Amino acid sequence: MKFESILLPGIDNKRPLVISGPCSAESEEQVLKTAHQLAANGVRIFRAGIWKPRTKPGGFEGVGVIGLPWMKRVKEETGMYTAVEVATERHVFEALKHGIDMLWIGARTSANPFAMQEIADALSGIDIPVLIKNPVNPDLELWIGGIERIYNAGIRRIGVIHRGFSTYDNKLYRNLPAWHIPIELRRRLPELPIICDPSHIGGKRELIEPLSQQAMDLGFDGLIIESHCCPDCAWSDKDQQVTPDTLKEILEKLVIRNTIQSTENLCSLRRQIDELDEELLQLLCKRMRVSSEIAQYKKENNMPVLQTNRYDEILSKRVAQGTDMDMSEDFIKTVFEAIHEESVRKQIELINR
Ligand code: PEP
Ligand code: MN
Repeated sequence: MKFESILLPGIDNKRPLVISGPCSAESEEQVLKTAHQLAANGVRIFRAGIWKPRTKPGGFEGVGVIGLPWMKRVKEETGMYTAVEVATERHVFEALKHGIDMLWIGARTSANPFAMQEIADALSGIDIPVLIKNPVNPDLELWIGGIERIYNAGIRRIGVIHRGFSTYDNKLYRNLPAWHIPIELRRRLPELPIICDPSHIGGKRELIEPLSQQAMDLGFDGLIIESHCCPDCAWSDKDQQVTPDTLKEILEKLVIRNTIQSTENLCSLRRQIDELDEELLQLLCKRMRVSSEIAQYKKENNMPVLQTNRYDEILSKRVAQGTDMDMSEDFIKTVFEAIHEESVRKQIELINR
C-alpha cells in the first residue's frame, strides 16, 4: 500500500498533529464555544461526534444531522478543519454533503468487516483523509484488514488512531494501551501516520498528559484529545475531556524529541551492541574450545564428563559475580546453565567419537 499525507493544506508537518473537540456535539452553543477556545489556543482540526455508538440503548446517541451545520459554522468562523465519526453509508453521505474535511471510523465499527466494507463502498471515488481507529479487540490483522478495505476503495490519505483495547476488568486504563500492537503496525506499514487517543485509552483527565508523552516518545505522529468548554457538563465521556486551556497546557508540557537526532544516536548505540555481541560470540567460541580440551583430557584419563561439584561451584560463583555487576540471579543462572548444557553436549559428542 502506498499512502499519501493526511496533512490538510496549511497544516505543517510538525509533531504532534493535534485534533481536538468534544466527544459529542451537544448544542450549537457548546460546539461553537469549544471551537473558538480551541482555535484561540492554536488547534487546527476540530473533532465532534455527531452519531454516537453507545453500549446500551436509551443513552445519548448523538444529535445527528442537525449538528452538521454547526460544524460548518465552526469552519467558517474559526478557519479550523472539521472531523466527524462515520459508521454507516448514510453518515458518509451526510458528512460529505456538509463539507466535513476529515472522517474517522470508530473502534466498534473497525471491528466489523461488513460495516467497514459499507463505508469503503460509500467512499469509492472520493478524496478525503480517513482515520481508522483500532478495533476494540486487540486484533492487528483485523485493523490492517479495515485499512485495506478503505485503501481498496481508492482512499490514499489514510491514518490510524490508537485508542487502546477493551478488557473485562481494567483498573488503571479504560482501554489497555498494548503499545506493542501499534508498534507492530508501524513495522508493517511504516508510512502510515499513527495518532494516539489518550482520552479513550486513559478514560481519565490526569492520564492524558503521560499517555501523550509516551506516544510522542514512541514516535507517533499525532494526538486526538477530547475537549469541552465545560467538561463536567459533557453528555458523554466527561471524565476524559479537558478544557481547551488545559489542553494547551498539556501540549506545552510535552517534550518532543527530535527523531532524526535520536535515530543517529540510536544507530551508534546499535553499532556498539553489534560489536559487543560479536565479542561475546568470540568469547563463547573460545570457551567451547577450552571445554573440548578438557573433554579430551577426561577421555584420556577415563574420567566422567559431568562432575556435579565443579558445575555447582561454577554456577554459584558466576551468580555472585553477576549480581555484584547488577544483573539478576535468574538471568545469570539461565545464561550459565545454557552455556554449561552446550559444553556438556559437545564433551559427550567428543568422548564418544
Ligand atoms: C470517540 O472518539 O468519541 C469514540 C466513540 O471513540 P471510540 O470509537 O474509540 O470508542
Ligand atoms: Mn468519546
